[in-house]
Amino acid sequence: MNYPVLDKGYVKLIGTMQSASDDEQCAKAFDDMVVEAARVSYGGGLKSPEQNKKLLAYLIEHEHGTPFEMVTFKFELKLPIYVMRELLRHRWSSFNEISGRYTEEIATDYYVPESFRAQGTKNKQGSTNEDLSLCNIIHTDDMVSYMNVVTEYKAALNMQRNSYNNLIRTGVAKELARGVLGTAFYTKCVWSVNARALINFLILRCDEHAQWEMRQYAFAVLEIFKTLMPNTYNILQKHLI
Ligand SMILES: Cc1cc2nc3c(=O)[nH]c(=O)nc-3n(C[C@H](O)[C@H](O)[C@H](O)COP(=O)(O)OP(=O)(O)OC[C@H]3O[C@@H](n4cnc5c(N)ncnc54)[C@H](O)[C@@H]3O)c2cc1C
Repeated sequence: MNYPVLDKGYVKLIGTMQSASDDEQCAKAFDDMVVEAARVSYGGGLKSPEQNKKLLAYLIEHEHGTPFEMVTFKFELKLPIYVMRELLRHRWSSFNEISGRYTEEIATDYYVPESFRAQGTKNKQGSTNEDLSLCNIIHTDDMVSYMNVVTEYKAALNMQRNSYNNLIRTGVAKELARGVLGTAFYTKCVWSVNARALINFLILRCDEHAQWEMRQYAFAVLEIFKTLMPNTYNILQKHLI
């Protein structure tokens, strides 16, 4: 399962506790594993599908999270560094990121937003739907000057990439040369996360308060989650977005 995200990123399922599979029986097993774990305390197992769904709903409503820790997923992501920084805040998971000391790959691609959203006014952390891509005017205290938002953005990032390549050509170590790259450059990581922590991630990052770019990754993960744990997904829906 591979979902393109933003202009050059993606989310790919690369493993589960069982092998990664699109097979429906295998996918259903992840919901059942949670139910089995929850019933182990009194020697019970799976019951009818309806009873199993009820138990899943009960576990979620009453925040009995540990049975969801029995199921783990592994994703590969290509994402801008600033989105990666947000993802890293989800401490209940494990990461391996490509090394900027070892490879020059981090200087390859940078993210160009489709829309340059204006700064939010109600929520100081957020943005509005107004697109400034075609905006050409900057007002400062004593003057008005002209530039195009997209051209300015790309010029800055191209300059960073050129500087990086020049430093590398001069023989500067990759671990130092990467210092000139901004956080719009793409990085890659492998992310291992159990279903409990993933549900927490989805609730926080599908929400409209999360940054739009982060949400696109959360929606891609949600699409994969929907296939893997359809019953849990159905119960969760009302907590999402
Ligand atoms: C809209 C939005 C805006 C944000 N803005 C900012 C910001 O401006 N600055 C900023 O720094 N972060 C910001 N964050 C990140 C946020 O504070 C969390 O770090 C991030 O969402 C991870 O959530 P989490 O701690 O629940 O997840 P995890 O780290 O995966 O933790 C999962 C759960 O485990 C428990 N847990 C984990 N570690 C501890 C611990 N040390 N002690 C006790 N319990 C623990 C908690 O119950 C936690 O909910 C923002 C997040 C969102 C969604």
